[in-house]
Amino acid sequence: MIIGVDDTDSIDGMCTTYLAANLFRRFRAGGYPKIVRLNPNIPYKTRGNGAVSFEAEGGEDIEDVVIDYVKKNAHLAAEGTNPGVVFVDDCANIDILNEFYKRAVSEIVTIEDAKAAAKKAKAQTHGFKNGRGIIGALAAAGAALDDRTYELIAYRKPENYGKPRWVDEESVIQMDKKTNTFNNFDYETNRVLIMPRGDDPILCGIRGQTPLDVESAWKMLKTEPVEFVQIFETNQGTDAHLRDKRIADLKPYDCARIKAKVSSKPRTIAGGHVFFGISDGTKMIECAAYEPTGSFRDRARALIIGDEVTISGCIGKYTGTLNLEKFEVLSLEKQYEEIRPVCCGRNAKSEGKDKGFQCKTCGRRFPESAVVFRQVERGIKIGSYEVTAGARRHLSKPLNR
Ligand code: ATP
Repeated sequence: MIIGVDDTDSIDGMCTTYLAANLFRRFRAGGYPKIVRLNPNIPYKTRGNGAVSFEAEGGEDIEDVVIDYVKKNAHLAAEGTNPGVVFVDDCANIDILNEFYKRAVSEIVTIEDAKAAAKKAKAQTHGFKNGRGIIGALAAAGAALDDRTYELIAYRKPENYGKPRWVDEESVIQMDKKTNTFNNFDYETNRVLIMPRGDDPILCGIRGQTPLDVESAWKMLKTEPVEFVQIFETNQGTDAHLRDKRIADLKPYDCARIKAKVSSKPRTIAGGHVFFGISDGTKMIECAAYEPTGSFRDRARALIIGDEVTISGCIGKYTGTLNLEKFEVLSLEKQYEEIRPVCCGRNAKSEGKDKGFQCKTCGRRFPESAVVFRQVERGIKIGSYEVTAGARRHLSKPLNR
């Protein structure tokens, strides 16, 4: 039987991965439990919109044990916590649930959509409070991961909850350099990325290509003592949320990959956020590289009208702009600089639009046609560019993966 769980935590504590890891250990379930990240734009999320599932032998009272455990451990009193639990029997139609997962990772879906998919697939759903958690629980239970990565999560000893976390920074950097793992350290901001910030039970999470990679990476770290570690299979770092779309077909909250041309000049607004337009012939949309994306904004600023790009990102919560995760430059427009006529050792001054130029020293006049255009080297090359590691979405595939 596959068990899916979601939406058990709040910003004050708990963590669905911890709750599910405890159940997984209690049932001595086989394989690895899964952390399945869903659409990162969902307004209801507590943090990273993750849901969890695992497979266990279906014993007599397994459903009761899980439901009872969720009832006792979920933060039911918190306003936005609406747990969901799903049980999928061997006879269920897993393809229907995988289709549901593919929608939930990339778009917004409703509780009714989840109930309809569960009914069609013969999966049992149990929702607490408004029951929104069944969306994530069902998607996690149904997710067949074509591309997958692994995350080893180290859980803190309960007596340390709320205290500052301790992981030796230098050991993280060494581990990052020597292992096949990713999202460990942001070298642009000098920030350790493996530790969350809230009061939840997680000390750190190491993401990598294989279970062996994350296990050997963990052994390299110097940390506070932990309660236990658990390796999860995940869709993190796989771009599972991105769909090839046309701009005209985009809906609020969609995550998309769009082939288009830059249609308006990048501009920087107060706060350092960079915006530019793209158009794919169906419509135009504004793209945003926000301040936390770091030096990625310089790459965005280097684009000019006419550049051909493939843009990856998600439609923002309130703005309708496409929030950039990365882009690939497919072809570059030629860029020219205007060289005005030189006289008496200086450039002649423009007399106004189409009025030619005049030397301010000797008064000599030059026609507009005296201007020469020289091709200049572009400040960007054909290739792919991504936000700084600290601003990367859980689902975004790092360029070096
Ligand atoms: P954490 O990362 O700490 O586990 P979280 O960020 O995963 O927290 P949740 O508490 O799980 O946040 O809340 C997310 C809620 O959004 C859940 O109820 C989940 O079912 C729902 N949800 C997930 N994906 C979608 C989607 N595509 N459309 C609508 N609702 C969704």
